Formats: sequence, structure tokens, C-alpha cells
Amino acid sequence: MTKTYGVYEWADWRYNLFKGCSNNCRYCYAKFMAKRFDRIKSFDEWRNPVLSRKVYNNSFKKRKGRGMFPTTHDITPYTYAYCITMLQGLLRVGNEILITTKPNFHLIKMLCKAIKPYKKQVQFRFTITSMDDKKLEYWEENAPNYKSRKDSLIHAFGEGFKTSVSIEPYLDATPMYLINDIYLYCTESIWIGIMNPKYNYGLRSTHIYNEVYVRAMIEDLVEVYSIAYPNTILKKLRLKDSIRNMGISL
Ligand code: SF4
Repeated sequence: MTKTYGVYEWADWRYNLFKGCSNNCRYCYAKFMAKRFDRIKSFDEWRNPVLSRKVYNNSFKKRKGRGMFPTTHDITPYTYAYCITMLQGLLRVGNEILITTKPNFHLIKMLCKAIKPYKKQVQFRFTITSMDDKKLEYWEENAPNYKSRKDSLIHAFGEGFKTSVSIEPYLDATPMYLINDIYLYCTESIWIGIMNPKYNYGLRSTHIYNEVYVRAMIEDLVEVYSIAYPNTILKKLRLKDSIRNMGISL
């Protein structure tokens, strides 16, 4: 089986402006990599994003294929102004961009307005991992709550953008309720994945691996999708490499 990894499953190239991310998710792969390669001294440092002036001052050029922005930080109230300058620059020269974010409703409203002329070049991929705000608070410390994320999706959809959702890592026992709640507003795909056991920390990690990410349960879930969902939903569902690389397919 060919293994596929991370962002290159979704895009040909990626763009980032900051080192660090105030969302400070417990399962953040970028944070673990930054610590491992001494780009940060402690995990705590991750929650304070630092702008890369070098990237920010780069000139923009049209690149082949689709780019993804951002992948190792997020569009937050603190980073928004820089992110929008970057996005407009990338779009102005004709790039196609997949915007990935745990969306903040107020920011998404502003963002949709600011990049409206480039609508055809953009697809949003909103990360929504649970409908339960307590779980979101635990795993994704400072990221927006469920309502803010769902409202963002509805707004971008209503504004005529291409919309998709990533439910990776799913934090509920089953992502089905979440899928049922959002699929109407997704013009494109809905991705489902699990947490990487090597890159996460927290008291609830053991629980989630022992109770939720049990191979037999994941297999059952996937089987249930094909029985329970009509084709209109089924054709949007995609399994992330974190599940496919276990040999499970839809
Ligand atoms: S939003 Fe993404 S980059 Fe930011 S901490 Fe969470 S996983 Fe890491």
C-alpha cells in the first residue's frame, strides 16, 4: 500500500507565515516537530506565534498546482491582518489556494469579503473535530467553539465559496452526528481521520485510544457510513491517510 502523508495529500505546496499557533492543540504535529528540531525551546512557546519577516516580505509568484495556507499555524485574531495580506498577494498573481483553518466566524466573514474577487481560486477547508465544546476546549485550547466553526461554514457556503470540512482527528465516539450537521453546507469533500498516537499529550489520550480509536470500531464506523448514507453524502466522504494507512477503506 502506498502511504501518503499530511499536507501533500491535499495540496502541491504549502505556505506559512508564523512559527507557533495560539490554538495550542494537544495533538499539534507542527508543535512536536518544532520542539524536536529545536525551533522552540518548550511546548509552551508554541502558543505565541512569531511572524517570519522573511516570508512576509517575499514577492509573490504564480506556482504550479494548488497551495495550502496555512498549515503550521492558524488564522486567528492576532495573525489575521498578516494572513489576509499574504492571501491577497498569493491570489492576485493567480494561485489556487486551499485555506485551512479552525474557523473563527468573525474572521471568516471579513475574509470572505476581502477575497471575494478571487472566489474561483479558493476552497475553504474548515477543521471541525467535535460538536462538544468541552472536548474542543480540552484538545484545542484556544480554538473557536463549535458554533463559530459551523457558522463560518454556513457563511462561506452562502457567499458562494467552495467549502469542505476536515474532521481530523475526530474527537467524538462517532463523527456521524457531526457529518449530519454540516454536510449540507459542504460543496466539496468531508475528510475523516484519527489522532497520531505519537504526537499528542493529555490525560484523555489513553481514553481516546482505548475507547474510540479501536481498529474494530473504526472499521465498523466506515462500514456503517456506506449503509447509512445516501450517495449524495457518501461521495463527499474521504478517509484521511491516518485511517487508510491502517488498511481501512470506504
Ligand atoms: S490549529 Fe493547527 S497549527 Fe494550530 S495548534 Fe492546532 S494543530 Fe497546530
